[in-house]
Amino acid sequence: QTLEKLEKSLEEVERSNAELEQFAYVTSHDLREPLRMISSFLQLLERRYADKLDEDANDFIGFAVDGAKRLDDLINDLLIYSQVNSKRREFSSVKLEGILEETLTNLKVAIDENNVVITHDPLPIIYGNDQSMIQLFQNLIGNAIKYRSDETPKIEISVKKEDKQYLFSIKDNGIGIDPKHLERIFTIFQRLHSDREYEGTGIGLAIAQKIVIQHGGQIWAESELGKGSTFYFTIPNQ
Ligand code: ADP
Repeated sequence: QTLEKLEKSLEEVERSNAELEQFAYVTSHDLREPLRMISSFLQLLERRYADKLDEDANDFIGFAVDGAKRLDDLINDLLIYSQVNSKRREFSSVKLEGILEETLTNLKVAIDENNVVITHDPLPIIYGNDQSMIQLFQNLIGNAIKYRSDETPKIEISVKKEDKQYLFSIKDNGIGIDPKHLERIFTIFQRLHSDREYEGTGIGLAIAQKIVIQHGGQIWAESELGKGSTFYFTIPNQ
């Protein structure tokens, strides 16, 4: 009977989770269109009217453009978050070497601008979804670059084959995280910095966690303030 009860509450949790995902999807999708309109008129103002308006007005337009950009990032991340468990994300063999290559291409501007040095072990083939894997690597490596210290950013990607799983680690020499915050950084909208210090949505690690769980693995981090952080995740080996 207890098992039956447990199964029932699990079903309920799954259902409300699915509803929440659907809600996030619909709202973020519907917010996109009006935002696109706002952004395009702001761009028009910037391009055609800059010299007709005084300095204050131009500043105000700049603030509005920044706000629209932040909203756009937020909507995009929410859409990704709501789509991780989508049935359209089918699983197949995924060559992580290719995934990393594509991720580094996506992050090329940030990597070049900051002279980031990235080293990595040969990566295995896993069973999963390629789009999700790109998002996972992109969020973790993107953060390692964003939260860099004054030193030249160095990122080490390692993988160990264990009995039933691969253990991946992404190590940076960035600003680090106070160990007391290590649990909550994977919760959606939990950020340790203000937008003025580092731009962000607080959704990246929540997406990463969702992806890893969907692939049957676990994700966690170890860190020391001022020294750097290491993010670990596991993926079953077939
Ligand atoms: P965002 O970067 O948009 O704020 P994330 O969910 O990606 O959101 O990360 C949550 C928080 O965890 C960040 O605000 C940051 O404080 C911290 N964090 C994540 N990755 C790192 C890292 N590699 N080094 C230092 N802090 C990090």
